[in-house]
Amino acid sequence: MTRLSQPLHQRLSTALVHDEFEVNYQPLVDLSTGEIAGAEALIRWRHHDGTYAMPGAFIPQCEKTGFIITLDQWVLKNACAQAAAWRRKFAANFTVAVNLSAHQFSHPLLISVVRDALRQCGLDAAGLELEVTESAAMHDADQSERAIEELRALGVRLSLDDFGTGYSSLSYLHRFPFHKLKIDRSFIGDFSGKARGSAIVGAIVALAQALDMRVVAEGIERVDQLTFLRSVRCDVGQGFWFGQAVPAPQFERLLEAGHNYYAQMTAAEA
Ligand code: C2E
Ligand code: MG
Ligand code: MG
Repeated sequence: MTRLSQPLHQRLSTALVHDEFEVNYQPLVDLSTGEIAGAEALIRWRHHDGTYAMPGAFIPQCEKTGFIITLDQWVLKNACAQAAAWRRKFAANFTVAVNLSAHQFSHPLLISVVRDALRQCGLDAAGLELEVTESAAMHDADQSERAIEELRALGVRLSLDDFGTGYSSLSYLHRFPFHKLKIDRSFIGDFSGKARGSAIVGAIVALAQALDMRVVAEGIERVDQLTFLRSVRCDVGQGFWFGQAVPAPQFERLLEAGHNYYAQMTAAEA
């Protein structure tokens, strides 16, 4: 049987053995300064022909089979090693954000897996952020509460990913003390005139900040979106306007150059 005719779950475990997965990094930008504050680690599957499969094409299958536990741990180790190297080389406060599946977040060994990854990579816990979606956190609320408490005690930072797409429950926001809230990109649309999106985003930013959380806007693709998000004092931005996720060597060139995203803006835009 050729590899391509194997079922997807078999091809995925072979891919890990053959080193076909790659962690790419997308900039997280401090919206007040235009500087890179960190990166989100996003997995890619590199095929033999040089093309990449995006997570949407294989993560659901990994979740179905439970292989996501192995894959998330692999990403975690890679990203921790990379974060440690970039903190040594460039900025001591640089952080890398890693996505955790619901499986991983509710796994009884989560804390020891995270602690081991930090120790093995020599990464200070403050250099790691873990991103969890609201539905993953709500899957088993009691277990999530314990996990959040232990991860916070370890010194790791926690982000609530894709906020606004699930229940957006205020009681859970109150119950789960995340450090950061990431507004889903479906809200970062048209902020012109009286668009309702502006009111919603402005209210989410104010609510999160009142709860002492930092706010990240995902999916910034245009300068008018950036301008609006800065006007409502959103803390951090991510999106194609700044750049897509790229392989580590390419991301490192941005850090080496001390890239500032506002340097390219005209005076009127800034
Ligand atoms: P996410 O965690 O919400 O990651 C952000 C996604 O939005 C990424 O898609 C990123 O490429 C995309 N994105 C960022 N800025 C823009 C923009 O301006 N416009 C548009 N259209 N898209 C933008 P990606 O890499 O395809 O990842 C999709 C999802 O797959 C992630 O959503 C996350 O839920 C999951 N994922 C990615 N890597 C991992 C991983 O290592 N482990 C787990 N469990 N899930 C992962
Ligand atoms: Mg994420
Ligand atoms: Mg997201």
